[in-house]
Amino acid sequence: METNDTISISIAVLPGDGIGPEVTAPALEVLHAVAKNRGFKVDAREHGAGAGHYRDHGSALPEATVKAVEDADATLLAAMGLPDVRCADGTEIVPQIDLREIFGLYGGVRPIRAWLPSAVPLKDPRGADIDFVLVRESTEGLFVERGKRNGDADHATDTMRVTRSVSEKLFHFSFQLARQRRGQLTLIDKANVLGSMAFFREIFDAVALEYPDVEARHLYVDAAAMLMVQRPWDFDVMVTENMFGDILSDLAAGLVGGLGLAPSGDIGDKAAIFQPSHGTAPDIMGKGIANPLATILSVSLMLDWLGRRWEDQRLIAGAADVDAAVAKALAEGAATTIDLGGSVCTADVAQAVIARLGT
Ligand code: ATP
Repeated sequence: METNDTISISIAVLPGDGIGPEVTAPALEVLHAVAKNRGFKVDAREHGAGAGHYRDHGSALPEATVKAVEDADATLLAAMGLPDVRCADGTEIVPQIDLREIFGLYGGVRPIRAWLPSAVPLKDPRGADIDFVLVRESTEGLFVERGKRNGDADHATDTMRVTRSVSEKLFHFSFQLARQRRGQLTLIDKANVLGSMAFFREIFDAVALEYPDVEARHLYVDAAAMLMVQRPWDFDVMVTENMFGDILSDLAAGLVGGLGLAPSGDIGDKAAIFQPSHGTAPDIMGKGIANPLATILSVSLMLDWLGRRWEDQRLIAGAADVDAAVAKALAEGAATTIDLGGSVCTADVAQAVIARLGT
């Protein structure tokens, strides 16, 4: 909560499972260091949720944790789910998706940037200029009936649900983001085949009239997938449906070195949750080698979101400090973890970033 000259941010921290706690600790170290440098306070409190919590306490998302997310200024979530822990009906434990629905976090923001140009798998040197944001609608679309099995012995169906209210909010959010950046927004849809997507496009076109300063474009999802590989540097902000966004965000992460460099924010009208795009990586948990940069960059997204919401330059500058320190640490080889082809361990990445804050 903000007061006149001092500012304190309350953060609900959900470390979750697998490498979740391992990447949370360095991200919080960086957050506290930025807060000290930029002169704001942080009240970060951890809360239980996830597959381990379900196994040990019978609930993957306790009421008290939902309340903590509701009460906090923002939430930092690491990763949740374990391969050997399942709900009674055999489905995966994914409280992070439940939280998106509980809080109506329609704007799934996935910034993609060539943080480490040598990690970009494209031959074209313009790969170093990749810098775009994919906004994935995160509460409806083809995920609306997730977990249900509709059909009979001979068929199964899933529904693609697109609502005017969520789409309008999503598009306003995306146009405003494009305005803060380079002023281009691309809608990615399948309006040539699906009625739901034609509806999505009509709403986009109507909202676009309110943003004449933003270049509004359309692409079919198949063409978008190709252009993201051939000319990713041409994109600024993209907005798309839930399932398309799910797939394209992994493609996008692959363009810049994988999930270890892909932060995300799930943003709604009243709450926002920031988390790395990767999962719990059980294959490397407990080894001290997980890359914490996606979580550290999620802290930066969180500070930027809070700073713009509260119009507080200290938070916005703190976010820019984190981004610059990450870029510098990577350029100097001080943060290249195993997934990036180096050998720096998790704890040393945090120290490398902190040492370069504000330098
Ligand atoms: P989910 O379904 O929850 O997204 P997943 O099993 O598809 O999870 P991840 O848990 O993200 O995927 O792991 C995919 C691969 O990437 C694994 O080999 C994992 O070790 C690696 N990986 C994921 N995150 C990191 C990280 N932060 N640092 C290093 N390697 C990682």
